[in-house]
Amino acid sequence: MSSEKRKPLDWYFKSNLLIRILIGLVAGAVVGIIFGPSVAWMKPFGSILVNLLKMIVMPVVLATLVVGASSINPSTLGKIGVKILAFYLITSAFAVGVGLLMGNLFKPGMGLELGAVADVAGKELSKPSLADTLIAIIPKNPFGSVASGAVLPTIFFAIILGIAISYLRQSKDERIQSSGEMLFKVFDGLAEAMYLIVRGVLQYAPIGVFALIAVVFGSQGAKAVGPLGTVTLAAFLGYILHVAIVYTVILIISKVNPITFFKGARTPMITALVTRSSSGTLPVTMKAAEEKFGVHKNVYSFTLPLGATINMDGTAIYQGVCAIFIGFAIGMPLTLGQQLTVILTAVLASIGTAGVPGAGAIMLLMVLNSIGLPVEAGTPVAAAYAMILGIDAILDMGRTCVNVTGDMTGTLVVAKSEKQVDLDVLNGKKNLEPESNSAI
Ligand code: ASP
Repeated sequence: MSSEKRKPLDWYFKSNLLIRILIGLVAGAVVGIIFGPSVAWMKPFGSILVNLLKMIVMPVVLATLVVGASSINPSTLGKIGVKILAFYLITSAFAVGVGLLMGNLFKPGMGLELGAVADVAGKELSKPSLADTLIAIIPKNPFGSVASGAVLPTIFFAIILGIAISYLRQSKDERIQSSGEMLFKVFDGLAEAMYLIVRGVLQYAPIGVFALIAVVFGSQGAKAVGPLGTVTLAAFLGYILHVAIVYTVILIISKVNPITFFKGARTPMITALVTRSSSGTLPVTMKAAEEKFGVHKNVYSFTLPLGATINMDGTAIYQGVCAIFIGFAIGMPLTLGQQLTVILTAVLASIGTAGVPGAGAIMLLMVLNSIGLPVEAGTPVAAAYAMILGIDAILDMGRTCVNVTGDMTGTLVVAKSEKQVDLDVLNGKKNLEPESNSAI
């Protein structure tokens, strides 16, 4: 902001963003606790961040989902395609369930009473029944949905549009094919541009997080530390449970020794943890699929990039936990109907989440929208969301690791069921790795 006017800001822009956001969080908490309610004047600085993030949501949802849906070539969507899609979708739905379970068990955010100031905001909006929500998914006017920020109808429209574009791209008629390509490029470009903007907005995040957190701690005091610890604990337990139970059971059913799997998956898992990007980890994941699991290229070259784009079980768990946290934090625990809506929207949101750091936090905004808890500047929901954003880097490490593990599990299991795995490689009888690389 005002700091942009001064020139020598390298200490800010060149330092690690994660660390800056964490510093913003901790400093905000300390300042809030010390100065109490008098920090309320900082509110606008937090609102700027909230508005900047909201600005990006609809274009991101539209562009990434259209690109995701239109990247799937209808003709490759054969047996392997159907199986992997089913695997990705079902495990993601399970993952949200795990997240909600953890949230309900740990009740993070309870006692925060952020809603004490303005608890009227979301109450009327949280009423719609499940049937109404489902019917409303079909937009009467897709442009209206985008303009008004109605997320579910926008997703519905984006997926249909994406599938249509993917058919256009396969057309034998050159004119239709090239127009399909052009549309694809437009949305692809839009998605890229939005992620560039996200990166820019994140540069402001440390300041915004500082202000938002200072205001929260200013009115809540040290009471807010515990709930954040509980969210982190609930999310990480969810991640571990999902990997240790859901994936392990699937592997055992597919007659893959889980120990062999996790040994081979180690490097991509660690890479995901540190890069916080499924897409960034993709080359490492592909290498492991070929060299450690013996999966044939024709399978993993399709299933892994698809997984890095649409399969985000860790993100789904995170969204379940965070939705519950925000409900408790504003003093309006989620109803069963709302939790069912979260399952639906979090699966869709995880599909629409790009495999880049922090993307899941943007998609959380849309999950919150769908249950009548929009993040509006100055509301309790925004304060609770800011708290999550402050620790997002930590939550993102775990969720990205789960995301990538899910992609590998699905790829191996589906490939094995289609006899597309070199079992000698999988069982360690044949080594495809170049000597020098075997250490990683
Ligand atoms: N960072 C995650 C990934 O790349 C996405 C997210 O933010 O949830 O898989």
